[in-house]
Amino acid sequence: MTLSYDELRALDARHVWHPFTQAGTAPPPILALGARGSTIYAADGREYLDLVSSWWCNLHGHAHPAIAQAVADQAMRLEQVIFADFTHEPAARLAQRVTALLPGDLDRVFYSDDGSTAVEVALKLAHQYWRNRGKDRTVYVAFEGGYHGDTAGAMSAGRSSGYFDQWTEMLFPFRTVPFPATWDDDDAVEAKEEAALAALDALLAAEGARVSAVIIEPLIQGAAGMRMCRPQFLKALEERIRAAGTLLILDEVMTGFSRTGDFFACRKAGVTPDLICLSKGLTGGFMPLSMTVARESIFREFLGQDLTRAFLHGHTFTANPLGCAAALASLDLLQAAECQARVKATEALHRARLDRLKSLGNVSRTRLCGTVAALDVGGGGEGYGAGIGQRLKAEFLARGLLLRPLGNVLYLLAPYCTTEAELHRAWDAVEEVLAAL
Ligand SMILES: *Cc1c(COP(=O)(O)O)cnc(C)c1O
Repeated sequence: MTLSYDELRALDARHVWHPFTQAGTAPPPILALGARGSTIYAADGREYLDLVSSWWCNLHGHAHPAIAQAVADQAMRLEQVIFADFTHEPAARLAQRVTALLPGDLDRVFYSDDGSTAVEVALKLAHQYWRNRGKDRTVYVAFEGGYHGDTAGAMSAGRSSGYFDQWTEMLFPFRTVPFPATWDDDDAVEAKEEAALAALDALLAAEGARVSAVIIEPLIQGAAGMRMCRPQFLKALEERIRAAGTLLILDEVMTGFSRTGDFFACRKAGVTPDLICLSKGLTGGFMPLSMTVARESIFREFLGQDLTRAFLHGHTFTANPLGCAAALASLDLLQAAECQARVKATEALHRARLDRLKSLGNVSRTRLCGTVAALDVGGGGEGYGAGIGQRLKAEFLARGLLLRPLGNVLYLLAPYCTTEAELHRAWDAVEEVLAAL
């Protein structure tokens, strides 16, 4: 029995609970029928250019035939197998492919399902690493505004973001250090970096021997509003962490897979973390999959004859073969010269269009890192709930553009396959809408 679009919408309205949505006031969700490239096709005949890569995960466009084929082939061979006692070709090959792109001895992959669990795994690994070594290190450090996911440990790391005020009693403590957010023509950046490093130095001087790990979103704090920092800040951070003998966790769930222009932000900054969390772009946006990659020296601390030394953690779908097959196909596309050229061209196009916007009175803090372009819109309040964001989103949807401002921060984070004509169309609309505000 086929249902009409209205019947489908009624079923959704009756039974589905949507994320990050106040169902009491939100307009009904758009019924997506299909998507190709950067375009989503809706039931009402409208088309939307997906300029947020469907929550920052799509790299090569929707329903990419090469990835779809890889998933289909894998599904006919082995769709899922328990990952304790078993392994499979896509998991082993993918671990090799990704670690080959990572610096240092980041050689050991622990698979899970999404960005939040990749962060939970990193935090739990750090915790047990010190226990296994007989060290009392239980203090955790994050950066102000940082976002690391919606599960309890990840929320704890992101508690300063303000997203989790409903759950503070569920969270464990985290020390926070200022994040030296910067933008084009920012002449206070050095002072902000010095202040952040001074705060970190003070914290490490007081509690350094008890710090288990420091977690940061390298180069770009995503959900905080595409707040960007300079690579040299990450270098300075790394030096201090090495001196304190503690662990550095990079949450590259959003920045990974060429978002910042290099395959990973850590490569762009020349930093080698102890643990790195990868998810969103991992499968090109096809399947939920994530990995926490650890240095081999960390893995070794879990070896022994005793089961309690092992990392007794896992998820039902750990290393799901369909996800791994999608990720291998996505990596083939990502590493092709054609895709890397698109990444570079996108960055250059964003640069030119951002520069043009600087003359608008209500535009400030234009900023760019790789394929992520952002700016602040003035005059409508700040923060995630700022009414201006909702207004802008509606304006752009009406023009067939899927843009989801974070409060008063407008950003473009498009799939790499988005054509120059499509990007120009988006920027033309941004110029028009902002000029008319
Ligand atoms: C999205 C995100 C997460 C959480 O990932 P989910 O897949 O939504 O659980 C964690 N860290 C960063 C930096 C993210 O952008």
